[in-house]
Amino acid sequence: MNSKEIRQTFLDFFASKGHEIVPSAPMVVKNDPTLMFTNAGMNQFKDIFLGNSAAKSSRVTDTQKCLRVSGKHNDLEEVGHDTYHHTMFEMLGNWSFGDYFKEDAINWAWELLVEKLGVSEDRLYVTVFEGAKEDQVPFDQGAYDIWKKHLPVSRIINGNKKDNFWEMGETGPCGPCSEVHIDIRSDEDRQAVDGLTLVNQDHPQVIEIWNLVFMQFNRKADGSLEPLPKTHVDTGMGFERLCMVLQGKQSNYDTDLFTPLIGKLEQLSGKKYNEDLKVDIAMRVISDHIRTVTFAIADAQLPSNNKAGYVIRRILRRAVRYGYTFLGFRRAFMFELVDVLTEVMGEAFPEIVLQKELIVKVTKEEEDSFLRTLDTGIRLLERIMVESEKSGNKKVEGTVAFELYDTYGFPLDLTELIAREHNMEVDIEGFNQAMEVQKSRSRNAAAQELSDWTFVRDEMDSKFVGYDTTSTTLNILRYRQV
Ligand code: ATP
Ligand code: MG
Ligand code: MG
Ligand code: MG
Repeated sequence: MNSKEIRQTFLDFFASKGHEIVPSAPMVVKNDPTLMFTNAGMNQFKDIFLGNSAAKSSRVTDTQKCLRVSGKHNDLEEVGHDTYHHTMFEMLGNWSFGDYFKEDAINWAWELLVEKLGVSEDRLYVTVFEGAKEDQVPFDQGAYDIWKKHLPVSRIINGNKKDNFWEMGETGPCGPCSEVHIDIRSDEDRQAVDGLTLVNQDHPQVIEIWNLVFMQFNRKADGSLEPLPKTHVDTGMGFERLCMVLQGKQSNYDTDLFTPLIGKLEQLSGKKYNEDLKVDIAMRVISDHIRTVTFAIADAQLPSNNKAGYVIRRILRRAVRYGYTFLGFRRAFMFELVDVLTEVMGEAFPEIVLQKELIVKVTKEEEDSFLRTLDTGIRLLERIMVESEKSGNKKVEGTVAFELYDTYGFPLDLTELIAREHNMEVDIEGFNQAMEVQKSRSRNAAAQELSDWTFVRDEMDSKFVGYDTTSTTLNILRYRQV
């Protein structure tokens, strides 16, 4: 089945179970101070769950454009390095607003995956909430008993609060969830280690595909839980992951959602996918990020210097940097992918076709302007290197590398790459020291805005982990120690 058929099969299946098919909400959120981007299918139904508005239909289904690069859900660092987290992705979902509950939700999930889509059942695992004494929430016996009718108890796994209990916030609706995982390893590998020990362990071939949330409690301000007068179902399935499974692939990037983009990148760069890990990561990052940029612009969010626009600008620049460093691009190239993307996704999301001209134009302008900054920085670096060489110095000083990073948006690995081409090294320790000094010296947004990059190198001791959306300055970077 191709991706278009898979998406439609999901929607048609739930329509046949009495669900109304509704459109995706915008990916860029305009009127919610707590959220810049839609990060789950349920976002648009928040007010229904909170009891602030009534549902038009008690059963709905859709595919939702989601973006996970900020706030509570931030997958940016995983993207491209693994093969199943994206920045922008589609979340397929079905909802019950005070209508059906666990029984139908679980039975239908199983019916769709196994009977309708033919996923082999012995590769599926499910998780149920193990309970939490401190919250006086019991083990989810109800879900367990229903799953037991479908698969052996050895493949029903207890999950903890982190993975299997969903809460909207400090207070409000909450409840246990059940996840469906799939083991796509070869038969040989599966015999070696049982899939259940790998569930929720970030194993690239034993991955979560679907999350079924059962809202049955309300958390009160004093922390206690009371049963909700009406229970709800909220499910979310990763569309790209489902396509991977159904198309018999080991990576989302090998599905028909991504191969045309990667093919175009191969053609433009003259490099091949699947030969060199760094090239592969770059191609995955770029083919992922162009989706984010395209859908953001289609939602009228242009790259800019603040808030959501700044996040989009940085994602676009991040992709340009990967192209520059690992694919050898010295000119704008992202904009050439927009045509391919609209071919792949335009039928389901006509807004990207309608806005295509604007998307191409804005993307190219952004790329050109960023490449000019890069050029200025590179010329500066080359001048410094020639001077250093004259004095017999084989090192680019850490303070210079930091200035390039801080003022011209050069990530350390790019400076290293250029230095290596001149048989020079970069003083990494000095760079880190300069970074520390700057971090402690200034926390104001203007200073932070100058640093445009995240690090590619995994061994860096501080890593960019995303944009803090709840902060007042919005552009402040958070670093984690690794
Ligand atoms: P994971 O544990 O793999 O990060 P999650 O538990 O964070 O997933 P949920 O919030 O439960 O994900 O979202 C529902 C479904 O959406 C997941 O089961 C998964 O299939 C899909 N999904 C989540 N994050 C991503 C992502 N970054 N890219 C693609 N699909 C995703
Ligand atoms: Mg996650
Ligand atoms: Mg998970
Ligand atoms: Mg989950």
